[in-house]
Amino acid sequence: MTRAPGPRSRALFRRARRSLVGGVDSPVRSFAAVGGVPVFVRSGRGAYLTDVDGRRYLDFVNSWGANLRGGAPPAVLRAIRAAAADGLSFGAPSPREHELAELLRARVPELGLLRFVNSGTEAVMSAVRVARGVTGRSRVVKFAGGYHGHSDGLLVRAGSGVAAQGLPDSAGVPAAMAAATLVAPYNDLPALERLFERYGSEIAAVLVEPVAANMGVVVPVPGFLAGLGRLARRHGALTIADEVLTGFRLRPGIAAPGLGLAPDLVTLGKIIGGGLPVGAYGGRSAVMRAVAPLGPVYQAGTLSGNPVAMAAGAAVLRSLRPADYARLERRGARLEELLRAAAERERAGPFHVARAGSLLGLFFREPPVRDDAAARKTDRARYARFFHAALDRGLYLPPSPLEALFLSTALSEEAIDRSRPAFEAAFRAARGAGG
Ligand SMILES: *Cc1c(COP(=O)(O)O)cnc(C)c1O
Repeated sequence: MTRAPGPRSRALFRRARRSLVGGVDSPVRSFAAVGGVPVFVRSGRGAYLTDVDGRRYLDFVNSWGANLRGGAPPAVLRAIRAAAADGLSFGAPSPREHELAELLRARVPELGLLRFVNSGTEAVMSAVRVARGVTGRSRVVKFAGGYHGHSDGLLVRAGSGVAAQGLPDSAGVPAAMAAATLVAPYNDLPALERLFERYGSEIAAVLVEPVAANMGVVVPVPGFLAGLGRLARRHGALTIADEVLTGFRLRPGIAAPGLGLAPDLVTLGKIIGGGLPVGAYGGRSAVMRAVAPLGPVYQAGTLSGNPVAMAAGAAVLRSLRPADYARLERRGARLEELLRAAAERERAGPFHVARAGSLLGLFFREPPVRDDAAARKTDRARYARFFHAALDRGLYLPPSPLEALFLSTALSEEAIDRSRPAFEAAFRAARGAGG
């Protein structure tokens, strides 16, 4: 068995580190969480990535979920070529913006009005600003382990267990800014209630991932999202469903309403850009009318609503059928079953798969995993061995024990079935020395 990555990836990583911080443009790509040298990708087509050494991998990351259709889907490429031929950026309104907006609004009725930005980070940062502008309040509640992009005030995660005032997760975040963020454990309504009792009149918004997928995958327990919505309403706070990851991942629209939450504001990204950089935030018209030029909340962007990115997003949204989601659900269930059986067969030790549709979280610990504190107790060393053994056998898994697997519609049942021996070997490797 040859070990991935090959010599060209190794050489490129050395070279990239001379110019790029850590050789990468986003930290998780560096493989710091699993050790070793990252695979440098030459191309991604359909369900497969090909690296610069010519090795092929079945892709279980799909650009962190952005590539719902897999790599280089022909309809999206055609749309991009057509849009690019008309010009790459205008800095003036163009029809492709409201075309994508109308497609989104047809699938997400919560979007009375919306605004396009260039990333999920920007979308959430802007939605929080709107919530503050509209309510005149400054505090925001998030949940431990919830990721909402890298804006200052949201890089906060409390210690496990107790609801606590935020401490920054990153150097460079002023304590005062982090202190405006309150943190509660996910799936813990009593903790949220205590925050509201103490700070109720100061809370502008509660920000939540309807299915948490940045701490592995943690599904909301029944009643959690509905209770969250009730508490917020009672205290005059807005709710923001951060659907940057879940939007169009679990169904052709957003996930929150089906899980009991009718959000005031919604943030989107990833899939709606069809693989190009797009984010969006929107919500009830009465709330969104606070945004400039209609209202006093300022937010702008040189490349926002970029016509090529809009065309890519629209091509993906137009192509989506209910059958795609039925297929993604079946593929997710098949992979979940395969992983469970392989872990058991290889006596891999405590292991738990959490799944929502085509989103899977692998925990090297026993269930249940209902919050960040439990998720963090996954055995990271076992995951790292599992990851590298899978990579050596042509499976590209998330290079971090607390990230999700994302399936694409390009992934076939046969490809999943063929991956069984590789997963079994990875579980053997996960056992460790002598395994
Ligand atoms: C990815 C993600 C973001 C940030 O989006 P970027 O495009 O990486 O800035 C925000 N919220 C959630 C839930 C995400 O998964």
